[in-house]
Amino acid sequence: MQLGVLGGTFDPVHLGHLRAAEEAREALGLDRVLFLPARTPPHKVSRRITPSAARLELVQRAVADNPGFAASDLEVNRDGPSYSVDTLAELRRDLGPDDRLWFLLGEDAFREVHTWHNYPELFRLADIGVLRRPPTGAPPPPGGAGPFTPTPVGYRHGGGREVRFIDVTLLDISSTRVRRALAAGRSVRYLVPEPIWPVLTEWRRDHPEWFAESQPT
Ligand code: ATP
Ligand code: MG
Repeated sequence: MQLGVLGGTFDPVHLGHLRAAEEAREALGLDRVLFLPARTPPHKVSRRITPSAARLELVQRAVADNPGFAASDLEVNRDGPSYSVDTLAELRRDLGPDDRLWFLLGEDAFREVHTWHNYPELFRLADIGVLRRPPTGAPPPPGGAGPFTPTPVGYRHGGGREVRFIDVTLLDISSTRVRRALAAGRSVRYLVPEPIWPVLTEWRRDHPEWFAESQPT
């Protein structure tokens, strides 16, 4: 079993997430990509975040028609802040020795990984797939989590796992952009999957406060 995990706030999920995950699934030969909305993102506490059950519901709808994708409620149903190291440790416990766990994240997130809770442990628990668009310069490995040795496709961690750069078609879509469009009463069709935009349009009408602030998260 080759399992990929894409964590995030998913406020809301959009086509950038889905396309990058699909390309990572193919590039790494993953059996499944788990989309894992965070409950209380530890570094995103400064703005109002859409209730986690609502974010999870949209992710579930967005991945439903792809047999290689699944939504996970692991973080949403766990008390306290959603630390990726805790989630990966939990997932790893259910995997066998021959299974491989890939933690997928965008290059923007990878560049900030040194600010995450117990981040050196991430590189012991999982192989890391960094989704990026060529030909931007390769991001350096985070300080304090090594040693890392460069490889043709990324880095190898001293513990044996790898950091691999995965070139994907990065669509310039962010949840922030989607929230801003909603807040301004504009269409979000073709930014988010087809089953999602009517739901968001309805939520914007019924819960305008969810979309009132539009800082990047
Ligand atoms: P926000 O604008 O609120 O920061 P976001 O669009 O960055 O939202 P997140 O939930 O923060 O979405 O992202 C979850 C993961 O998906 C992160 O690892 C992020 O780097 C990655 N990601 C976000 N947008 C894209 C995209 N357009 N293409 C590829 N990966 C993306
Ligand atoms: Mg983000």
